[in-house]
Order: sequence, then C-alpha cells, then structure tokens
Amino acid sequence: MSDKRTEIADLGEFGLIDHLNKKVKIRNSSSLKGIGDDAAVIDAGEGRVKVITTDLLIEGVHFDLSYAPLPHLGFKAVAVNISDVAAMNAVPKQITVSIGLSNRFSVEAVEALYEGIHAACEHYGVDLVGGDTTASRSGLVLSITAIGEGKKDELVYRNGAKPNDILCVTGDLGGALVGLQILEREKQVYLANPDMKPELDKYTLVTGRQLRPDARMDIIHELKELGVKPTSMMDISDGLASEIFHICKASYVGATIYEDKLPIDKQTFDTAVELNLDPITCVLNGGEDYELLFTISQEDFPKLEKHADIHFIGHITKPEEGKYLVTKSGTAVQIKAQGWKHF
Ligand code: ADP
Ligand code: MG
Repeated sequence: MSDKRTEIADLGEFGLIDHLNKKVKIRNSSSLKGIGDDAAVIDAGEGRVKVITTDLLIEGVHFDLSYAPLPHLGFKAVAVNISDVAAMNAVPKQITVSIGLSNRFSVEAVEALYEGIHAACEHYGVDLVGGDTTASRSGLVLSITAIGEGKKDELVYRNGAKPNDILCVTGDLGGALVGLQILEREKQVYLANPDMKPELDKYTLVTGRQLRPDARMDIIHELKELGVKPTSMMDISDGLASEIFHICKASYVGATIYEDKLPIDKQTFDTAVELNLDPITCVLNGGEDYELLFTISQEDFPKLEKHADIHFIGHITKPEEGKYLVTKSGTAVQIKAQGWKHF
C-alpha cells in the first residue's frame, strides 16, 4: 500500500469492484464464470453446473429495524439471493446463513429472524446447510449465500443480448423505493410524536415490496415450460436504468425503451405522486424491485405475448445507437444509470 489515498466514493461501488477484480486470476477450469454476473458458475460435470451468489445486509445501511419486522428481514435476505440464482436461469437448492449479533438481540429476536428464513426456504424449496455466527459491535449483520443448479447450456448470462432482441421485464417496478419513502416518512412522524399511529394501511402493496420482496422463480419455471430461453438476463436490484447499462455493457449493445411500456402499479404511481416523486424516475432508478430484466429473440415473442406478468419495454440496438428512453410525447432521451449510491 502506498501513501496515496483515493476515496471509495470516487470509484463508486461498481468502480471499486472492477478495480479490485483486475488482479483476480482464475486457476481452475471448473470456474466457468467468475465475477461480473448475477452469480458465479462452477462446472459440476456431465453438462451440469452449480451457481453461487452471496449478499451482505447491514443494519442501518440496508435495513432499519424500527420498521422492518425481523421475519420479513429474514425472508428478504434469502429472497435477494434466490433472485440472483433465478437471474442465471438456474434453480436454487441450498443456502448458508451467517449472522453478526450485538447483545441488543435476544434469542427470541434471532428466532423471529429465522422464522422468515425458514419460510423462505419452504417457499423456494431450498435447504439451509450451514453458516456462521459471531458477535457484532454495529448491530445486525446478515450474509446469505445461495447455491443453485442448472444445465450448462440452459444458463443465461448478461452478455447474450443481440440487436433486435426484445427487452422484457416481469411484474412492476418502483414499488420498493416508494414503499421505503413511506416507511421513512411514517418513522419521522412517529419520532416527532410517538402518540401518532403510523398510517400504513393504504400503502401495504408498496411497503410489502420493500419489506418482503419475492424472487421471480415462478417466471423461470414458466419460461422453461413455454420453451423460451432468454438471450440475456439479470435481476433488477439497483434500478432498471442501471441494469440496462449492465446488459448493454456485457453484451456490447445499445437499447431503446418506451416510457408508455414501463410497468408501474397504480398504488406505486399514486403514492409517488403523493410524495412529489416522478413515477417514471421511480421505475427507472428505484432499487430493490427484484423483478427480472431479460431479452428474447423476436421468434420467441409469440410464446410470451399473452403472458400477464411479462412486459415488453423496448428492444436491443447496435452499440453505437446508445441507450434511449422514448417518452410518451415521442422524444428520445438518453438513459442515465443512477442506481443506488452506497458510498
Ligand atoms: P448483484 O447486484 O447481482 O448481487 P453485485 O452488483 O453485488 O451483483 O456484484 C457484481 C459482481 O461483482 C458479482 O459477480 C459479484 O460476485 C462481484 N463482487 C461484488 N463484490 C465483490 C468483492 N468484494 N470481491 C469480489 N467480487 C465481488
Ligand atoms: Mg443480481
């Protein structure tokens, strides 16, 4: 280490990962895909592979226990990893759970957290096979690793999108961000006046999207049944705009999306307006939706056309055509990848 000091904020999260990864050397031929996709891919022999992904959640950065119920947090910590397994077109099988606990937490509190973890294991059909437990001085730390299985030739990476492919997203977007804003608002109201009861009843859809997201394994199974293999795929954890940049960078392509095709739920839209947020900005830059973004070749379109929960938001273009959003009035504006800035 030299005396030079560079701020992490100058590189950003992705810049830092890229920087550190320049020195990574792959030594084993079984490491089929290392850093850079939703999960790593390991050769399991006979045309089969394992995928591995891990996520770290820190109290005060990723969650706030004043409004996140522990069972929901446990469920979410599993779901965000399952989402990365789904994004590879693989099927999750095992998880490990590592926790750091301060003495603020009782056995009952840890049991409540595990109630959610077990519910997620049941929901996604995965086994909890290990982990680690340690003391923490900075509240709750939760890290989950998920392992999935798939056939080598059925895996879908971020780098397979081709010009003219159709860009698809599942479900609706922006809800988790809007839900977070509501939870924060009600927390401030409560802190200012603890006698006030938080008004959350009319926001259950968006707060649910924030507190207890569901990974789209249902879509992975349906795509298989319909005989559709996406040309590229990833999950939407940092916001649609940021993920489109990832697909475009990995696949060396451009993309055009259409504002009037972007899926937004009515409650998300109305709540965004109530909060003075632009609903389209919430859709483009809201994080933590855990829906899937994928591309399909034109010939697969008829197989998905009637699907109620898959939306066709645009198409892939040549790299020199850039990344554009065509607004409702027909103007093409360049997409900016804001995503979440943790640093
Ligand atoms: P996702 O949002 O899908 O969970 P991330 O954006 O967290 O993915 O990470 C992008 C890629 O960088 C992944 O392949 C991940 O494994 C890798 N990565 C993230 N942090 C590190 C790290 N500290 N060291 C090595 N690889 C990392
Ligand atoms: Mg991901």
